[in-house]
Amino acid sequence: MDLTIAREDLAFRDEVRDFLETNVPRSLQRKVELTTAFLTEPDISLEFHKALHKKGWSVFNWPKEYGGPGWTAVQRYIFDTECARYNAPMYNGAGRMMLAPVLMKFGRQDQKDFYLPRIASGEDHWAQGYSEPGAGSDLASLKTKAESDGDHYIVNGQKIWTTLAHKSNRIFALVRTSTEGKRQEGITFLLIDVDSPGITVRPIVGNGGDHEFNEVFFDNVRVPKSNRVGEENKGWDCAKYLLEFERGGSLVAGRVRAQFTRMVELVKRSCPDDRDITMRLAELGTDLDAMEMIDISVLSKLQSGSNPGPISSLVKMRWSQIRQQITELALDAAGEDALKWIAARPLYETLKLPGEEEEILSITPRYLNYRAYTIFGGSTEVQTTIMAKSMLGL
Ligand SMILES: Cc1cc2nc3c(=O)[nH]c(=O)nc-3n(C[C@H](O)[C@H](O)[C@H](O)COP(=O)(O)OP(=O)(O)OC[C@H]3O[C@@H](n4cnc5c(N)ncnc54)[C@H](O)[C@@H]3O)c2cc1C
Repeated sequence: MDLTIAREDLAFRDEVRDFLETNVPRSLQRKVELTTAFLTEPDISLEFHKALHKKGWSVFNWPKEYGGPGWTAVQRYIFDTECARYNAPMYNGAGRMMLAPVLMKFGRQDQKDFYLPRIASGEDHWAQGYSEPGAGSDLASLKTKAESDGDHYIVNGQKIWTTLAHKSNRIFALVRTSTEGKRQEGITFLLIDVDSPGITVRPIVGNGGDHEFNEVFFDNVRVPKSNRVGEENKGWDCAKYLLEFERGGSLVAGRVRAQFTRMVELVKRSCPDDRDITMRLAELGTDLDAMEMIDISVLSKLQSGSNPGPISSLVKMRWSQIRQQITELALDAAGEDALKWIAARPLYETLKLPGEEEEILSITPRYLNYRAYTIFGGSTEVQTTIMAKSMLGL
C-alpha cells in the first residue's frame, strides 16, 4: 500500500474540492448534518449523485471496465475524505456498493449491461431483501419461497427491516427454492421490481423517529427467471459475497472523523473541564486513528479489484462501536440540553433555528438511531464469531 501524496494527488484534491464547492451548497450540507438516520434520503442525495455521474465519478468504487474512474487508493481516500468534510450525501449504497460487485462476479452479461449503468446514473435505487421476521442472524433459515412456474418464479413471503424500500424501485432478495439438503443450498438470489403486482411495502418507524426501514410483503409476485443471479439454489454464494462489501466495502473514516470533530466542538462549548469526557474523547480519537489505518488497508484491496475478505467483519464491528461511542459522548456532553429533542421528522424541514441549537436537537435522535449500527449488516456478536472462525481459526 503506497499512500504517498504526490503532486498529481494534490491537483486531484483541488479538483475534488472545486467540484464539491460547486455541487454541495450550504443548504444541502445542512440537510446532511441534520439527518439523524444512518443514510441520507435518496431525495436529498440524488441530485448530487447525478452531478457525480456527469463528472464520471458516481461509481467511484467500481473497476474502470465497469465505468469506475480508475482511481488509485490515494485518490479514492482523498475523494472520500473531502466528501466527508463537505458533508456530501451518498446515494444508493445498496446498489452501488453491495449489489454491483455481485453482478460483476456472478451476473450474466445482459444483467450487467442492463443494471450497472442504471445504478451509475441513479435511475435505479435498490433495497436489500435479506432479513425476515424469523431470519436475521440466522439468515439461512429464511422462508420466503419462490416456486417455479414456466419461465417465472412465484414469490410468497415477507422481508423485514428493508432499508429505504419505500424509496426504491428495485429490490434484490434471497428466496427459498428448495427445502432439500442443507438450508444454505436451497437459496436463490433474485432481482425484483418493487412495483410488481403483489408487493406491499409497509413503514416501520425507528425509536429516533425516522422512517428508514420497512416490511415488504410478497403475495404471488411473478418474477422472470431471467432475473435470477447465478444458479438456482446457489444464491448463498452471492449472499455471502455481498455481505463482505456491505460490511467492509466503503471507506468511512472521513465520515466518522467529521462527526468526531463536530463532537469535539460540542465538548469545547459545553463541558471543556470535564475530565471524564476529555479522557473518553482522547481514547476515541486514538481508536479512530487506528481504524482509519485498517480502513485504508482494505481500501487498497478494493481499489485493486479484490473483495474485502473476512476483515470486513472487523471493520464493520469496530466502526459501529466507534460511531455509537461518539453519539454516547455527545449525549453526555450536551447534558440536559439533549432532552430538548423534538419528535418531528425530518429535522431539516422542521427547524428554523440557528446552527448550534439545531445540532443539539439532533443529538438524541441520532443517539437512538445509531443503536442500530451494531445490529444491521450482521450484529456485533455475529461478527465476533466470524472473526473467531475465519481470522483466528478457532
Ligand atoms: C437499522 C436497520 C436496518 C436494516 N436494514 C436491513 C435491510 O435493508 N435489509 C435486510 O435484509 N435487513 C436489514 N436489517 C436487518 C439486520 O440485518 C438484522 O436485524 C440483523 O441481521 C439481526 O437479525 P435480527 O434482527 O433478526 O436479530 P436476531 O438474529 O434475532 O438477534 C438478536 C440478538 O441475538 C444475538 N444473536 C443471534 N444469534 C447469535 C449467535 N449465533 N451468537 C451470539 N449472539 C447471537 C444477536 O447478536 C442479537 O443481539 C436492518 C436492521 C436494522 C436494525
